[in-house]
Amino acid sequence: MALSIQQLRYPFSSEAREALFKVTRDVKSLIDQLEDPMNHDIVRQAEERVYSSIVQDEIQLPDHNNPASILVYQAARLIVERIDEPRLKEYQAEAESKSVNKYLANESDSYLIHLCESAFGWAVKSTGTEAQRTKMPLLLRSFDFRIRFEDFLEVAPLFHAWNWKLINRHLDSGWVPVRKSELARLISGKFKQLILDSRIEVPTLPRRLTEAVERIETEIRGKIRKTEPVKLSGDTTTAFPPCIGQIHEDSLAGKNVSHEARFALAAFLLKIGMDIREVMGVFKAAPDFVQTLAEYQVRHISSKSAGEGYTPPGCKKMQGNSLCPVALGEVFDPLCEYVLHPLAFYQTRTWELSKGIVDHGWYTRKKRKRQSLK
Ligand code: SF4
Repeated sequence: MALSIQQLRYPFSSEAREALFKVTRDVKSLIDQLEDPMNHDIVRQAEERVYSSIVQDEIQLPDHNNPASILVYQAARLIVERIDEPRLKEYQAEAESKSVNKYLANESDSYLIHLCESAFGWAVKSTGTEAQRTKMPLLLRSFDFRIRFEDFLEVAPLFHAWNWKLINRHLDSGWVPVRKSELARLISGKFKQLILDSRIEVPTLPRRLTEAVERIETEIRGKIRKTEPVKLSGDTTTAFPPCIGQIHEDSLAGKNVSHEARFALAAFLLKIGMDIREVMGVFKAAPDFVQTLAEYQVRHISSKSAGEGYTPPGCKKMQGNSLCPVALGEVFDPLCEYVLHPLAFYQTRTWELSKGIVDHGWYTRKKRKRQSLK
């Protein structure tokens, strides 16, 4: 029987999982299926799908008239898990989630609600038609749905923009109003997280799959070599404040850091004296890195038309954007209680390092701390 387009668009949906279950039940039977000569084209499509995520091409949907097409996404996951390269997995999660996000924009409201409920167990309600919403307070009329705050919080903290912080949202008896585009972002963000969190034990693969794995492996190694981020010297990075250190590490690991985080890191690196080429090099591993765009953005941040170039955001702004790991309780550095700006942290820590000061607790003995991170 033919598959529905939605089963192919949304591999995490309950309908896609049902269709998969009819064809295969575990990794071993999946591999057996893929080795069947009838399914060799499925392996080819899976390889192409992974390749698209490396080169940032749009993911093509397989033919819905062939029930075995449900295996393409699974085979693509199998190839990536077998290679076990974190940057490849980041590329795949990013590309798959982008593809889902694109399709969700054209789905009906009722389908989105169904997808949220059946795939993730989220509670989502429609706020009614446009005519019905005219009876709502003006502020809430542009929201198409409401979602339980617990479900909102499963994904929203992964996005750093201010509008994803629960404190900046309207909250009504535990329900958060969201626009259609925001709900799509939550769904695709959840899917991305599911890919990043999943681990598949992949046994030795038969010949055809092994050949696909080898070709993708060569491709990703070449991409990693070409996009090897510029590694900053240990002297520079040891003086980084925790916030900048975290964004820098995420960039090197090929994670897709938020726009605000990129801006903070780029402006910071430019201010401490790195040139545009070096700063761009740091972002090379990003799954959505585009040379010309990155160059334009970094040049703009450093632009003289913006005076002496943009100043990186201060601690308050970083905290507001959920980019301060100290305020989030993830790490601790006593200097953070004293400074109000990441650059002030860097200057003080550089000075300490130059003097060989290793006891960073001297700020805590100061009577007046300049900021409370509690
Ligand atoms: S307190 Fe300031 S310098 Fe320290 S990690 Fe947070 S934002 Fe960065």
